[in-house]
Amino acid sequence: MALEDLSQADLEQELAAATEAYGDFAARGLDLDITRGKPGTDQLDLSAGLLTAVAGDDIRSRDGVDVRNYGGLEGLPELREMFGELYGVPADQLLAQGNSSLTLMHQALSFALLAGTVDGDAPWVGQPRRIICPVPGYDRHFTLAEALGFELVTVPLDDEGPVLSAVEELVATDPTIKGMWVVPMYSNPTGISMSEERTRALLAMPTAAPDFKLLWDNAYGIHHLREPHAPMLDVLGLAADAGHPDRVWVFASTSKITHPGAGVAFYGGSEANIGWFTGHLGAASIGPDKINQLRHARFFGDAAGVRRHMSEHAALIGPKFAAVIEKLEAGLAGTGAARWTDPDGGYFITLSVLPGTADRVVKLAGEAGVKLTPAGATHPYGLDPDDAVIRIAPTMPSLADVTAATEGLAVCVRLAACEKLLAQD
Ligand code: PMP
Repeated sequence: MALEDLSQADLEQELAAATEAYGDFAARGLDLDITRGKPGTDQLDLSAGLLTAVAGDDIRSRDGVDVRNYGGLEGLPELREMFGELYGVPADQLLAQGNSSLTLMHQALSFALLAGTVDGDAPWVGQPRRIICPVPGYDRHFTLAEALGFELVTVPLDDEGPVLSAVEELVATDPTIKGMWVVPMYSNPTGISMSEERTRALLAMPTAAPDFKLLWDNAYGIHHLREPHAPMLDVLGLAADAGHPDRVWVFASTSKITHPGAGVAFYGGSEANIGWFTGHLGAASIGPDKINQLRHARFFGDAAGVRRHMSEHAALIGPKFAAVIEKLEAGLAGTGAARWTDPDGGYFITLSVLPGTADRVVKLAGEAGVKLTPAGATHPYGLDPDDAVIRIAPTMPSLADVTAATEGLAVCVRLAACEKLLAQD
């Protein structure tokens, strides 16, 4: 029976049982961390060959370019082709750059601030500016936009993407709404993927700002955990069909494919956007790290090589996701105290607990030795108005640790729910 349907006496009994279970859990003296979406060491080892893929005097790219020297602002063509195929972007509309897609997002927004966009009439700086943040979302998107002076405006996210009516209402009349974050596949943190219908609608909708942008952060586009694979949409083709070819800036990186912080990041867009981006970038750089790009091109060989590599990742982390789901079900099914996502890809599981208890759950877990992402981190300014969303990142700890951590987490959720319901009576 759901906790909220229990009599006062039964609820008190549940509280006593949960308190005892919590005490037992804390007594295990664990020291576990399921906060950040980092790959585990075994995943990093999958890319060990990368470190020796360019050696000695074998330093020429496919076209005979000596990668040790300056130049090639757009990135190595062989890598742009390989990842263009994977992300559904024509190679000449995809730039291969440095080690971080977040940096590219920061740069694109900075260029828009300082110089305006291809379809706008003025630089964004000096104007009031707002950006739509679907929630729950990725905390670093929020921090990045806030650091550049954007006001963060939330819309809810459902199973197909940002709720269209909420987005339409904002963009239709408010020219200060300059853009929206989107994690189109296996989103951080809910794991949902955008439907084609929702995508088409976002690309077609009228916007009061002529230079409204979708920041299409496909960080998890090829990070499938199991079938069915979410489809890779031809977002640039769809944007052109919708009559807004310049509306989308595509981002991706190999951070969770090879080595985070030492990978290759990509920027994709219409021909006009590519010209715009490289035009500004050319003032900042003589070219990206082509040695690292050649390492990646050689290590994978082709797009099929990347896909094989991603299935090796899935084999390592799939069991961790399955363990989290199993322990949440074992500890919480039928209690009505929580819901959780069971994603087909990506890096996260979202746990939605009884409103008003997320912060308490995170504190309880922390005191018992399980570090969780702070409650609220999935919302702009760290404020989840319902205090209900917790992000679980199962990849980095061992399978045994993630299993133990989730067992404990389920106890904390039950305990916090009992406390809350009793306090309401
Ligand atoms: N976007 C999303 C949605 C992410 O979850 C992450 C990593 N946590 C990043 C971007 C970071 O990408 P990068 O390492 O390429 O800067």
